[in-house]
Amino acid sequence: MRTLQPVRGTRDILPAEMRRHRAVAETARRVAAQYGYEQMATPVFEFTEVFKRTLGEHSDVVMKEMYTFPVSEEGDTVTLRPEGTAGFARAYIANGMQQNLPVKAFYTGPMFRHERPQKGRLRQFHQVGVELLGPSRPLADVEIIAMGQQVLAELGLSESITLELNTLGDLESRKAYRAALVEYFAGFKDKLSADSRHRLDRNPLRILDSKDEGDQAVVADAPTFGDYLNQHSQDFFGQVCEGLDALGIGYRLNSRLVRGLDYYSHTCFEFTTTALGAQGTVLAGGRYDDLIETMGGPATPGTGWAAGIERLSMLMDRDTTPTRPVAVVPAGGDAEMAALRITQDLRGRGFTVDMGYSGNMKKRLKRANNAGACAAVILGGDELAQSVATVRNLDTGEQETVALDQLPGYLARYQPG
Ligand code: ATP
Ligand code: MG
Repeated sequence: MRTLQPVRGTRDILPAEMRRHRAVAETARRVAAQYGYEQMATPVFEFTEVFKRTLGEHSDVVMKEMYTFPVSEEGDTVTLRPEGTAGFARAYIANGMQQNLPVKAFYTGPMFRHERPQKGRLRQFHQVGVELLGPSRPLADVEIIAMGQQVLAELGLSESITLELNTLGDLESRKAYRAALVEYFAGFKDKLSADSRHRLDRNPLRILDSKDEGDQAVVADAPTFGDYLNQHSQDFFGQVCEGLDALGIGYRLNSRLVRGLDYYSHTCFEFTTTALGAQGTVLAGGRYDDLIETMGGPATPGTGWAAGIERLSMLMDRDTTPTRPVAVVPAGGDAEMAALRITQDLRGRGFTVDMGYSGNMKKRLKRANNAGACAAVILGGDELAQSVATVRNLDTGEQETVALDQLPGYLARYQPG
């Protein structure tokens, strides 16, 4: 075997970290449900076209980051999903979901991008996300931003996170801005990175998002979008801001904020933190009114966001602890079968129960303590003859004799409902 390490950029998620992942995913799912969003899932891989057409042929994701495999002699390929929206849009069209607008969906699962692994940047990572199809009004954007904010607040993260907000305007505004950017950047061609020189012909907006220092110096004096927004785009953005103000949600306008993918229009936003170094964006999204039509579906406005579970779970300082088990401890071989039956009966009633398989009583009690058990149900021969057990509180050491048929009622003090 070449190596027992996981493939570069992928990770094993051990139980303590998995608990944090679950807390993120569960919190997001619960909050989304409060807004009427129902969970759905699409496949982890799709025909490559699904991503190529929607994310933009020239986006970083499509050009460098996709894991693509051949699946037929004819040259069809499939790609591991780098993000959730394209597959969701495909599913919306394929399942005729336009019959039931608005569609409000929540999803969670692994995503795959072939990028340089570093803190907060993996090749297999996980996201939670929401999509809202149907509403074209700015209030819909306000709602999904408010939902993102609530998820972060319920994870205890609102203090350390800022909301950055921008608009990419409608198509007309983007065309005008694009032309202005091409003209401006053309004057600095020799100062731009090779990547950004490519972007110049293809998608100059993306130069604004470049992480290259040389690019950033040029970007600093680039024309700003605000000057190229038509009236409709200005009104739309104004209403998003008004809605956020009405809800008391603070934000920072950032005219340099663009999203890495082609399908966005109007509202775009990112919740960022300074606590994770360069990988500071934890939740990001925006409006994508042209996406469904681009894919060949019925024109349907949409808006949504996705959040990186690994980045959020790194920010959470509190660990969520698992339920402390009740330990059933048979004293002596004769008691083992009875202990097995009692253990299984308690689990059937909803208790979390551990039974040590071997060792003397002292050893088993020690193991119960190590497992974080809250109480031990000790079963000895004498006790069984009288149909009772000794229940010891493992925090205080106090113990009581309890009739076996009273056991579930008695243990409820340790693991209520
Ligand atoms: P970045 O600018 O950090 O590359 P992005 O714009 O590519 O992010 P999105 O496509 O908006 O990211 O994905 C939404 C969220 O998913 C990000 O804000 C981040 O939290 C998470 N994410 C994206 N790529 C990765 C990755 N390679 N590893 C871990 N998390 C990621
Ligand atoms: Mg990226």
